[in-house]
Parts: sequence; C-alpha cells; structure tokens
Amino acid sequence: MTTNERIQRLERLLEVSRNLSASLDWEPFLQTVLSVATELTGSEVASILEAADKDTLRFLAVPWFHREALQTVQVPMDSSVAGWVFQNGKPAVVPNAQKSERHFKGADQATQYQTHSILAVPIIYRGETLGVLEAVNKANQAHYTEDDLTILETLASQLAVAMQNNRLVNRVRQVQEEASHLDRMKSDFIAVASHELRTPLGLILGHATFLREAIQAEHRSQLDIIVRNAMRLKEIIDNIANMDNVERGMASVRRRSVSIRRVIEEVAASFQDEAKEKRISLRIDPGQDDLLVEGDASKISIALTNLVKNALTFTNPGGHVFVAAERIPGYVKVSVIDDGIGIPAKDLGRIFERFYQVESHLTRRHGGMGLGLSVAKVMVEMHGGRIWAESVEGKGSNFTFILPLDSGQPSAASRVFLP
Ligand code: ADP
Repeated sequence: MTTNERIQRLERLLEVSRNLSASLDWEPFLQTVLSVATELTGSEVASILEAADKDTLRFLAVPWFHREALQTVQVPMDSSVAGWVFQNGKPAVVPNAQKSERHFKGADQATQYQTHSILAVPIIYRGETLGVLEAVNKANQAHYTEDDLTILETLASQLAVAMQNNRLVNRVRQVQEEASHLDRMKSDFIAVASHELRTPLGLILGHATFLREAIQAEHRSQLDIIVRNAMRLKEIIDNIANMDNVERGMASVRRRSVSIRRVIEEVAASFQDEAKEKRISLRIDPGQDDLLVEGDASKISIALTNLVKNALTFTNPGGHVFVAAERIPGYVKVSVIDDGIGIPAKDLGRIFERFYQVESHLTRRHGGMGLGLSVAKVMVEMHGGRIWAESVEGKGSNFTFILPLDSGQPSAASRVFLP
C-alpha cells in the first residue's frame, strides 16, 4: 500500500470515528461500525460478539444478510477464534481458517458461508473484556496487515465505550423499573393498610367518645387518653395516605371559594384544649378583611393543622403560638409563629423533606413521623402557593405559606417578592 493510500485510510478512519461518537442510536451505531470495519480492512464481512455466559459468545451485530442465521448460534469460548481473543484479551490473525483448529465451523454452517481469513480484536473497557470485533475474508485472499489491526483496534476502543454506556443505560432502566415496581407495592400497601386501619380506628374513636360522656367523672381521664391517642393514630394514617395520594397523582383540588378566616378559626379552635393543657397561649389574627382563596378548604386546613400542631409540639410550657393572615399583592399570607425551641440552621433547608426530623428518631422526645411539613408543602403547592420557614435555634420559628387570592377578589396588580 502506498503512503498516500495509507493516509487516505487513516483520514477516513478519523472521519468515521468523529461521526461515530455523535451517533446516538444503538443498532445504527453497531451497523456503522461493521460497515466501516469491512470497508477499511478490505474484508467481506465483520461481526461483533459478546459473552452470553462464561462458556459461550453470541453475535451482538452481524451484516443484515446473516442476521437470521446467526441469531441463535452459540460460539464456544474454548474452541473458537473469538473465544480465544475474548479469554486472552489479545488480537488474533488467522490466515487460513479452514485449516485452523481454532476456527468454529458452526457459524459458517448456519450461514452457508466460507470463512478463509479472520482478524479479531478484543473490545476492552478499563481492563474488562466486553466482546470481540472480527473482520472476515480479506479481499483477494490477501493477508491482514498491521494497519488492518490498528483500524480494528481503533474501532474496538470506540465500541468499548459505547458498549459500556449501553450497559449503564440498560442498568439504569432496570433499576428504574425495579424502583417503580417497589414504589407501586409501597403505594398499594399504604392504600390497603390505611383503609383497613381507618375502619376499626373510627369505631374505637366513636365508642370511646360516647363512653367518655356516659361514664362517671373518675374514669373520664382514662377515656381521654384513649380518645387522644386514637386521634393521634388517625392523624398519622391521614398524613401517610395524603402524601401517597399526592405522589400517585390521585389528589385533586376541588376549587371553591375558601375563607381563610374560617380555616384559621376552626383549626385554632381544634387546638385550644391542647394548648391550654400545655400552658401555651394560642392566639390568632385572621386579618381585617375576609380573605378568600380559590381552593380546597380541607387541604388548606391540613396544611395549617400540621403547622400549628408542630408549633405546639416544639414550644415549651409558658410559650406562645400566633397564627396570622394578611393580604399581600396577589396572595394571602398565613404565618404560624412560635417562641419554641427553633430549628438549627443546618436542618432548616431539609425539614420539608419526607421523613426528615431534626432529632434522630431514636433519641427524639417528640412523636411524629417527619411527614407533617412535607404534607403541608404539597397541599400548599397544589394550590399554586409556596411555603417556607425561618427559625432561630432557641428563639422560635416562623412558618409562612402564601396562596393566590381568589381571582374574583380584587387584588393589587404588583407582583409579590418571594424570599
Ligand atoms: P413531625 O411530624 O415528625 O413533626 P414534620 O415534617 O412536621 O414532622 O416536621 C419535621 C421536623 O421539623 C420536626 O421533627 C421538627 O424537628 C422540625 N419542626 C417542625 N416544626 C417546628 C417548629 N415549629 N419548631 C421547631 N421545630 C420544628
């Protein structure tokens, strides 16, 4: 081969290599490698093999006219040229395949094709052999040269990266499928368990509430404990079910005009006993106007309930909890402010994550599953609102959410600035 021819071939290899790295789809990529290998080594055909198991190789890519015949052919690792190359991680040249003991005749039989000469190189990625690239039957019965070897090795190194990528993509896909299967199982479990728990719990609550009224005062405190704890269980189940509904896209917002004043008054009223018991002052200021948002009152209540519950939980006796609403341009802003234990700065960014708790679960003094705030967040965001927290450890916390004002309600034109 003249120097000019050599340069032309290498230029062609370079050009093809550039295009190959831009090629995205797997099958066309493999076919391009085969045709380039055939063209640049002056061969009749080329093929790519990969390990099927420790004893056999299978064809990963062959020319289209051999595809059907070679689909199921298993190439033995111990008695084939490709097997030798795969196991030794080294290239091999077989000038006369018919006379070679190494040559595996099965593929020729399947394709009715006669192999004369073979040049095979390993496809190696970071020391691991992934497969073998073979060029077959150099034209005019010629011998494969060092240049042919260089060409195949260059192509094999590109194949190595692509095969590794493909393996990773497949692995990611598989992991995603496994994860979504597990997620479905988890969701089904939660749906069934929360449904099954709710029914007996409702009965316990109903009967205990009835008994509390019916029996003498001396036993009332025991029934109070039963009712309180059953309520607590109900809250936990509701929070888990709410979160799961949102995740499965089952939750929807029934849009009605909701009075924020009413939501605040009702939520605060439901906590007054608990606040008194804990010697915490719970005050509200729902604002002067009756602020209306378009949304689902029960979902806004859930968000506020979880914030007030936390404020009471994380505030010491003698402390204060204050719930206020005000109108800001385009939005209603609701704040739950306490002078409780506060949240360390390092945790503040994560408290809205599911199951996140500042105190470790094993050492914590307070109940809860770390779901309250994440539920509040999804409830607010379902309404097109936002929620955030400011806090100083040892001084207290301020949880704020904003919800878009009901469009029927006159609103200031300017845009709100969000922190
Ligand atoms: P939990 O139901 O376990 O309280 P949340 O999601 O409601 O879970 O809250 C997550 C964590 O954020 C709590 O465990 C607590 O450490 C912290 N936190 C929430 N609200 C307050 C608050 N008002 N004051 C201090 N810490 C709070």
